Amino acid sequence: MKTVLLNNFLRYVKMDTMSMEDVSQTPSTEKQFALARLLVEELKKLGLKDIYLSKECFVYATLPTNRTDCDDSIGFIAHMDTIPGFSGTNVNPNIISNYDGKTIPLKGIELNPKQFPALKALKGKTLITTDGTTVLGADDKAGIAIIMTMLWHYVTTNEPHATLHVAFTPDEEIGTGIEHFDLDRFPCKYAYTIDGGAFNDINFENFNAASAQITLHGLDIHPGSAKNQMLHASEVAMEYHAMLPKEQKPEYTDQYEGFIHLTQMDGSVGEAKLSYILRDHNKALLEKKKQIMKDAMDFINKKYGKGIAEIQIKDSYQNMAEIILKNKECLTRAKKAMEALHIMPTSTPIRGGTDGARLTFRGLPTPNLGTGGYNCHGPYEFACLEEMEQVTKIIIEISKVK
Ligand SMILES: [Zn+2]
Repeated sequence: MKTVLLNNFLRYVKMDTMSMEDVSQTPSTEKQFALARLLVEELKKLGLKDIYLSKECFVYATLPTNRTDCDDSIGFIAHMDTIPGFSGTNVNPNIISNYDGKTIPLKGIELNPKQFPALKALKGKTLITTDGTTVLGADDKAGIAIIMTMLWHYVTTNEPHATLHVAFTPDEEIGTGIEHFDLDRFPCKYAYTIDGGAFNDINFENFNAASAQITLHGLDIHPGSAKNQMLHASEVAMEYHAMLPKEQKPEYTDQYEGFIHLTQMDGSVGEAKLSYILRDHNKALLEKKKQIMKDAMDFINKKYGKGIAEIQIKDSYQNMAEIILKNKECLTRAKKAMEALHIMPTSTPIRGGTDGARLTFRGLPTPNLGTGGYNCHGPYEFACLEEMEQVTKIIIEISKVK
């Protein structure tokens, strides 16, 4: 199984599937289709049913149960694209068997256990790193390889399994793909995204998210005759920003602490704009953050005049925990699968959103399972083959007929 998994993984990471920001169509890049078509061919060879590649580059397929008395169905999802910010062209994976625990030199950079302490626990394992010039794309081709290996396992062994729906999706990294997910092609009780961190992690909590845009209107007068006349919009913008709680910035928060993050500022004398994102796992605390933003606006308007500051707040996505905790079966099933394999499950709150969170709010509870990928979104990315193998075993266990 390990060899199949490794070969799957290497085949997928070598394909450039970088997505691109600010493109209105899905997929954002045509090249994602190349991987989608390869997966369609491989799914056909495995003999899956209802294989479908949509015009938005979603691959769907089903492995029907091999038991007559089973009406159980589960879904598995992984994304095909890699991050737009760093090159995914000519990925040249570097395989290290029996890792000696020392610094790994790559082109121009190195993976140093002092800088990346997670390496220390991986001594003796098989690591797959970049050559130092690209991402690896383990985010999320590790997920795809794991799912494909799980399917290969059931097709070759014919051990009893539930009906398994799989989907490979585009444009996860830019957050725009999932709205085109066709739930009618994915008729299961619940699903799992296989994406990201620790191999024993079950993630079912993510941020509640909103954005806020503040516009400050100034009064632009020739600086030579500005005394007691000019209202400098950018000065007022800085005053507004200074009123926000300093400890609630991303650089000072972790775990369950939310934040208010200034993402962009533009300003002149006449007008200034501040763009923020607001995040919190706790819905009430997110509302509190919105209130802080409004209170600061009211203060500015009281001080300088009505309408000087305006605010526009938009909700972006919600914490799936709200729904998952009412449909706990997907969590217990994953936990039991890990325990059967003597793996201790952990649960880390995601400090972001997930495609699964959006699907959860569309009616398909979809927590996330880790992949054994590390340092995603840059040249320091690497994966541990044995941990990917563990995740493959976990989803094989999850898929067993109950
Ligand atoms: Zn990912």
